[in-house]
Amino acid sequence: MAYKTTEFNTASPVSALPGVGPAKQAAYKKIGVSTLGDLINHVPRAYENRGEIRPLDCSRDDGKTAVVLTVCTPVQSSRLRGGKTVIKFRASDDSGLCDLVFFNQPYLKGTFVTGSVWRFWGKVERRLTRNGMRYSMSSPVYERWEPGMLQDFTPVYPLTEGLTQKQIARDIAETLRLLSPQITDILPQEIISKYRLCTLAYALRNIHNPENYPALAAAKRRLVFDELFTFSLLVARQGMHRRETGAFPCVKQNISPLLSLLPFELTEAQKRCVREIAADMKTDVRMSRILIGDVGSGKTAVAAAAICICLMNGRQAALMAPTEILASQHYSDLSPVFEKLGFRCALLTGSVSAAQKKRIKAGLSADGEEKIDLVIGTHALLTEDVAFSSLSLIVTDEQHRFGVEQRAALAEKGLFPHMLSMSATPIPRSLALVLYGDLDISRIDEMPPGRQKTDTYLVDESKRARVNAFIERTVADGGQVYVVCPSIDEQENETYDSGEVGLDEITESGLLSKPPLKAAKVYAEQLRQTLPGITVALIHGRMKAAEKEAVMTGFVAGDINVLVSTTVIEVGVNVANASLMIIENAERFGLSQLHQLRGRVGRGKRKSCCILISDDSSVSSHERLSVMCETNNGFEIAEADLRTRGPGDFIAAHRGDAIRQSGGFKFRLADVSGDAGAFACATEAAREIITTDPDLSAHPLLKDYIDKTAAAGTITD
Ligand code: ADP
Ligand code: MG
Repeated sequence: MAYKTTEFNTASPVSALPGVGPAKQAAYKKIGVSTLGDLINHVPRAYENRGEIRPLDCSRDDGKTAVVLTVCTPVQSSRLRGGKTVIKFRASDDSGLCDLVFFNQPYLKGTFVTGSVWRFWGKVERRLTRNGMRYSMSSPVYERWEPGMLQDFTPVYPLTEGLTQKQIARDIAETLRLLSPQITDILPQEIISKYRLCTLAYALRNIHNPENYPALAAAKRRLVFDELFTFSLLVARQGMHRRETGAFPCVKQNISPLLSLLPFELTEAQKRCVREIAADMKTDVRMSRILIGDVGSGKTAVAAAAICICLMNGRQAALMAPTEILASQHYSDLSPVFEKLGFRCALLTGSVSAAQKKRIKAGLSADGEEKIDLVIGTHALLTEDVAFSSLSLIVTDEQHRFGVEQRAALAEKGLFPHMLSMSATPIPRSLALVLYGDLDISRIDEMPPGRQKTDTYLVDESKRARVNAFIERTVADGGQVYVVCPSIDEQENETYDSGEVGLDEITESGLLSKPPLKAAKVYAEQLRQTLPGITVALIHGRMKAAEKEAVMTGFVAGDINVLVSTTVIEVGVNVANASLMIIENAERFGLSQLHQLRGRVGRGKRKSCCILISDDSSVSSHERLSVMCETNNGFEIAEADLRTRGPGDFIAAHRGDAIRQSGGFKFRLADVSGDAGAFACATEAAREIITTDPDLSAHPLLKDYIDKTAAAGTITD
């Protein structure tokens, strides 16, 4: 080509490439590709596994197959009506004979010489004839067979109208050629060697054009590492500047009057959390703490202790919940206690009358007798024009966290309150350190006494009859049953065509393979037939809101015995009478997700059970799922989840949190990572760098990259 490679850099528009005009440029834009840099970061979603060669008689009937055949007849060429040319020949392997047809490629006549050997990739059709099975392929991809020389994994890119696989592959190859001298590694050499990573240039080359499987796995590992490392570094850097002073030191800390009003004694874990909070509140350094504990672990009592300390010191506290219902619930739980202790409480939500609102606001800005000490409301509480006379503590339920901006807004009002957030999502310590890098963490890792345990069993398909009998028995007993399936229809069963390997199936220890998915629709129908006399209903995310509502109402009322669903029931269902949870294809779920699902039973007086069904016979899957049978502790499960399932999946499962916390960092590759060690390594590497070189001045390339990423708005706080 006639251009100099130095004219191009990662910021050049894709239209700089030969053959990319305005139309192609617009198409690229639709898939988020504007520059050459974007293009080389446009990673395949899957790979055609042409390296998995099958004999003709074992070809896939549901997708493309790679076969290696020897041409055994001369090529015949003919002309069809309408001017189309067609060439035909036969080729064989040890298992059969195949008719090959190519249209409009007359030049191939001389290519397929009798006796030559080819790898063909395409759909193998079969037809039973008098002479046995006959196979045929129409216009397959062909490559001259040279053992060990052909590329086994061919990328499959996410596409949009106006782009073809061929074009993208060609453009990427060209871009890599043009930019390769300029691809500089942002990772410091010591990290690359310490974590045995490949170079960035190698990774990019092999993610697009894998030399072989190990090269592909290494490439993916490196790119996933980069993503997690960048994420960790950004979050770690955000967490650096805190320890703001100006908060009110709450030195009076004797909360025994509160404790004597509670109908129970605090657990050891609750006591520890109260101590940690009390120590923070004693100083003028503003508390920034998150209280993490499973649903039902008793976070409210700990929050009450913090509120009590604040009020005892003559200061005001605010408690905020994500919904009005939760706010009202907190109000009815807490206000009687605090009123008894002589404090004034108010509930401020959208449904409070204007007159009432006015009175509450007056009370919040008042001093002395008129002062409202504790206000409970939704997260909107602080955005209203509320003036506080002496606000010194803000507690937020469900991990609504205050960012720099909100803290600044409060400071403008002259407020430097201590802050306590609460989260019901147990996450591993290492992840918490990253996601909540700028917060101190308190964990309630123990349940109040007397909770019944949900017994959990892991079984395979061979126990189906017994599972059904269990369902019958539970229903006969007056109980109700949840069945969770990972997919709705059978069609959506596989995200990839067969013959393709998803990027998520690439791991360093080899290709993953997954048992087929159980579909909710089909399963609901089967259950209806197997268990006549039992009312089975189906609920899934594609149903209309009203339909879902009707089904849920029926289940809550007890008219429906068995509810077959996808994971939509994860959110906000509380049916105390449900005592059996069955989870199909349990191997498809993260442990933390299984834990959440299991939490739907065991809420009433009935002895509850959870049955995990999985036909994944791999040791790793079995070990992973066994954790569920051994513990009900959300933290232990989260640790195991991160350890065994991989950081990408894990973060993806906690995406809501992760993204909120990080202000919108988008993972592309980490989502599909199955490399369990990567997250821990990336986090560790990021922490090492940030502690030894807080402003990254010793790592200018990295600093530049991180600054750019932050400026691009992927992270904001
Ligand atoms: P969550 O952490 O989900 O907010 P809650 O604070 O609502 O949990 O507590 C759940 C239930 O456990 C409440 O009914 C509460 O009264 C009770 N509870 C909390 N702490 C204890 C304790 N130490 N001993 C016994 N019951 C407790
Ligand atoms: Mg709660």
